[in-house]
Amino acid sequence: MGQACNNRVPEEGDDVPFGPPVEEYLYRCSACGAEWLVDDVIVDAAVGMAKFRGEYDGRLPSLGCPGCNGDTLEYVDD
Ligand SMILES: [Zn+2]
Repeated sequence: MGQACNNRVPEEGDDVPFGPPVEEYLYRCSACGAEWLVDDVIVDAAVGMAKFRGEYDGRLPSLGCPGCNGDTLEYVDD
């Protein structure tokens, strides 16, 4: 008689080392006024894109607002 192998090893997902704390940037939409905390991964990607296009001027680039059609989210520099 065969026996079904049921001995699945539990997945190991608990020992992922903590990375550096995620930085978030406050953005505000100039069109609708909504404020968003944007993950630095996304901001970095936008900076990389702006550099690629030759549009990077040293400031954080504007981003697309989820509620508006256009790159109307602008970094709020406190
Ligand atoms: Zn908006």
